[in-house]
Amino acid sequence: MGKRQGAAELTAVGIGKTFGDFHALRDISLTIGSGEFLTLLGPSGSGKSTFLMILAGFEEATSGTLKKDGVDITRVPAEKRAFGMVFQGYALFPHMTVEQNIAFPLQVQGRAPGEIKILVDDMIDRVGLRGHEKKRPAGLSGGQQQRVALARALVFEPAVLLLDEPFSALDKNLRVSMQEEVRRLHQELGTTFVFVTHDQSEALALSTRIGIFNHGHLQQLDTPKQVYERPANRFVAEFLGDVNILPLSEAQATGHGGEAVFEGRPIRLIAPGEAVTKQFAIRPEHMVLSEKAPDDGNMLQAEIEGVTYLGSETRFALKTLGGTPIVLQMPTREVSAGFEPGRMVWAGWPATQGFFVGS
Ligand code: ATP
Repeated sequence: MGKRQGAAELTAVGIGKTFGDFHALRDISLTIGSGEFLTLLGPSGSGKSTFLMILAGFEEATSGTLKKDGVDITRVPAEKRAFGMVFQGYALFPHMTVEQNIAFPLQVQGRAPGEIKILVDDMIDRVGLRGHEKKRPAGLSGGQQQRVALARALVFEPAVLLLDEPFSALDKNLRVSMQEEVRRLHQELGTTFVFVTHDQSEALALSTRIGIFNHGHLQQLDTPKQVYERPANRFVAEFLGDVNILPLSEAQATGHGGEAVFEGRPIRLIAPGEAVTKQFAIRPEHMVLSEKAPDDGNMLQAEIEGVTYLGSETRFALKTLGGTPIVLQMPTREVSAGFEPGRMVWAGWPATQGFFVGS
């Protein structure tokens, strides 16, 4: 245990993919850093699996180039790339035991039996399958089967691990514990991980960076914090979570952000480099409800229309004086007893929160 594996850098330049006259991917250029945990996120049909298949070598790009550590691998077949893979439907061998399943890639490579034993043993410990070595997949839980799949994909020390929605069939609790497992394996091994999901919270929790796909285009590639708090466009903003969009009557850039007017009230944003547009966006949980006007920051007066108790959080449906609907979410322990439908309140947020979006 404790040994770190190799990692490779992958670079895609202008990757396109058509199926007949349908464009599944358009001009995708990105670099996946050595040892990074990069997630490809997007709605169904956005092209993320197709891109992963091109990285794996199972699909050929219609245009563009792919490089591994600077070497062109665009035409290198999948088996020569030797990336680890955990795909949906990339099933375990049902007639083999756990250790036979994990040993399989090493046997294909013709490794010596002594070496195979050491590597398989190490993986069994790493993924927490000690005691289950002699079982067959049918005798394992869904989570244990996924651990075998992970061990089999990592045992031959690939420089890149590709994962396509590996946990989509698991229930929520198991999914969360497998996410933690994958994150730990990534940290321990240092291998480059490329992970496909359509689950926003999974992407935000796991990744060093997230690439967001829509209609075959890469919309933004950045850290979880940046894509959530500084989305490149309205699609990214709305795909990553609920967001209030406030139409502005005036908006201009200042040296360090922007100043705008919404329903006659000033809105100020401190965010250097922000491109100012005629729409201001603010996430529900970045606003706080209060009975009196806050002393500083941005604020709007609004009427409570609905209250939804969500356990640790409470969600409010508000309507501004100008009639714009707003959603606000805050910790339940901070909710005052008087916050009930019909009440006029103040929704406030600091000048460092929010962003301008294009249409
Ligand atoms: P999902 O989460 O549903 O898998 P995705 O973002 O991974 O979605 P892809 O599987 O990459 O999307 O598919 C992108 C588009 O390309 C889809 O519209 C799909 O129907 C189409 N597509 C993928 N593979 C083929 C194929 N072999 N032949 C024709 N069209 C295909």
